[in-house]
Amino acid sequence: MAQLARQQRSAAVTLHQIPNTIKTDSYWMPFTANRQFKKAPRLFSSAEGMYYTSVDGRQVIDGSAGLWCVNAGHGRKQIAAAVERQLMTLDFAPSFQMGHPLAFDFAERLAEIAPDGLDRVFFTNSGSESVDTALKIALAYHRANGQASRTRLIGRERGYHGVGFGGTSVGGMVANRRAFTTLLPGVDHIRHTHDLARNAFAKDLPEHGAELADDLERLVALHGAETIAAVIVEPVPGSTAVLPPPKGYLQRLREICDKHGILLIFDEVITGFGRLGTPFAANFFGVTPDLMTTAKGITNGTVPCGAVFASRKVHDGMMTGPENQIELFHGYTYSAHPVACAAGIATLDIYKDEGLLTRGASLAEYWRDALHSLKGLPNVVDIRNCGLMGAVELAPRNGAVGARGYDMLVECFNNGLYLRTGGDSVAMSPPLIVEKSHIDQMVSILGDAIKKVA
Ligand code: PLP
Repeated sequence: MAQLARQQRSAAVTLHQIPNTIKTDSYWMPFTANRQFKKAPRLFSSAEGMYYTSVDGRQVIDGSAGLWCVNAGHGRKQIAAAVERQLMTLDFAPSFQMGHPLAFDFAERLAEIAPDGLDRVFFTNSGSESVDTALKIALAYHRANGQASRTRLIGRERGYHGVGFGGTSVGGMVANRRAFTTLLPGVDHIRHTHDLARNAFAKDLPEHGAELADDLERLVALHGAETIAAVIVEPVPGSTAVLPPPKGYLQRLREICDKHGILLIFDEVITGFGRLGTPFAANFFGVTPDLMTTAKGITNGTVPCGAVFASRKVHDGMMTGPENQIELFHGYTYSAHPVACAAGIATLDIYKDEGLLTRGASLAEYWRDALHSLKGLPNVVDIRNCGLMGAVELAPRNGAVGARGYDMLVECFNNGLYLRTGGDSVAMSPPLIVEKSHIDQMVSILGDAIKKVA
């Protein structure tokens, strides 16, 4: 509470002022309206635990775990020490035809917490690379198994799978695709599951919509199962502001994939590493995909790293040629980078010691009730939650989609809460060290902001 009072005091006296020594011309910022941002930049200078400090010295509570990645909270000394040690010992090791012990240790540690049988691990440097890797593995797997006709990749409307050509192609966020005229051919999308008419204000998983998984049957009928390599979905889409799947939906998708020999890929870049109160969303939903993409929380957001988890079926299916043949013509200079492995192992130690991969389960109900207490505030048209993910959707202002969402971002930041927005929804998912008092603080600032931007 002392922290809250301090934060409110400082917010009252200072709105973000940045030192005029910072020149903003050269940095072309990603996914940002650069010209708008640079008129009033929002800058952080340090972070500790649940809080950022802005350059003007204000405490800003982290409602989105950075970009859904700082699962163990900020400033973890154990990770910093491991990174420093590693840099002083082995700063780089080639990952093609050579290796280093930490890469194997890290993969084993990940395999220990992996969902059922998904215990073969391929390292990347980001979520986008994990997605493109998984899509390529799917294609290569079918080809290696005599089904080279399976080249079609299926995504879902409103899906976000990073920014590589593969991920952008299977992605379904309109603005992310529209700007680029050429994407992968042979890609199709099943329908999304967001249904305000039937499911608005559903708590946890929506009741209605499991049958939307049957849309995959439409694409099977249209293209032929023998042409489809894989379907990729986020178990809970995050970038489109937290869309929990209807009850039974993912189970049904798994069944249809099995029926037609289609690989199922879960993109767990956001949902991985404890965000739903289970190690992965696959555990939460009791549905095991054939491939699972991860990144973000794998190193607590400290060092770029990602991993694709593959089932034994997929992995072993690629190991059938002559022993001296490279099985997968794919990889990155920085795959299994020693510094990323050191950061990742230290991160997994923290997750284990502090029980963070399951801690969300004990807070999910409090989180849900706190968010849903905002029902009835002006313009709130939906509230969604799943594990420690949550979103509040607001009605667009006079048809200008995103304007109210942007005002929310600014208003919350000015009052000490950092969160993500997508269109007119605000999405939140705090570090997994969050306490109930932090949730109260976040929801209180959020509620005030909703009233203010009404
Ligand atoms: N997949 C999902 C589901 C994501 O949410 C993201 C990023 O937010 C990505 C892929 C891309 O990850 P990255 O930004 O690390 O490339």
